[in-house]
Amino acid sequence: MEKLHDIREVLERIHELQIQLSELNGRLRRGELLLKSQAASIQKNETKLQETTNEYHKLYAYAKQKESEVTQNDLSLAKRREQLREAKTNKEYQALQSQIKADEAARNVLDDEALEAIDKADKFHANVGLAEQELGKSRELFTNTKKKYFEDKPKIDNDIASVSELLRAEEVKLPREFREIYDRLVRSLGGVESLAIVENQRYCGSCNHQIPIHSLAIIMQKKPITCSSCARLLYIPKDFIFDRG
Ligand SMILES: [Zn+2]
Repeated sequence: MEKLHDIREVLERIHELQIQLSELNGRLRRGELLLKSQAASIQKNETKLQETTNEYHKLYAYAKQKESEVTQNDLSLAKRREQLREAKTNKEYQALQSQIKADEAARNVLDDEALEAIDKADKFHANVGLAEQELGKSRELFTNTKKKYFEDKPKIDNDIASVSELLRAEEVKLPREFREIYDRLVRSLGGVESLAIVENQRYCGSCNHQIPIHSLAIIMQKKPITCSSCARLLYIPKDFIFDRG
């Protein structure tokens, strides 16, 4: 013969277990989301470091180019000065002299440009260091979170398995007319959302909707009734007093 269970107690116990299960699953999910967001942050910092390094290489190449222009200009100046010493005519001498003057003027400008470019590249290099630091920090954070997650996960998985087992053991105690409604709600709303306790003798513990007297009367007859507002299967607390007034 089928064992008779107090339906109120069974529903209350199922709800407790569903809440525990939902909390355990929530912990796992939060851990996974945290890992995902920290992994995304690593990727962002990797891109930032790449971009910063590229920018530095550009500035550095420009500075090197300016330095080489200074060297070229110096060579050209030296060559013209040599030509000046060997100038045969006055006209040739004057032409070379004015070219040298132009080269000297150009050299000053190039020198300034080269110094400025070197300075700019040097200063920018600090940004590469900062981007490296940021990347290092985000990798460390991810590693620590991952370690913690995989330390906690077996324990949580274990708890989920044992709570699920307890839950199944309670669920089979539900009479058929309860079980059908409960199963449907678990499928449509999720386990923890499938039940609600009656609070303050009259209100749905989930949505605070006022439960009509005739619904409470149905509960007292140990028949299933759902909240007309949030659709959860209702059950009463142990100290519930049915007040017909
Ligand atoms: Zn409700």
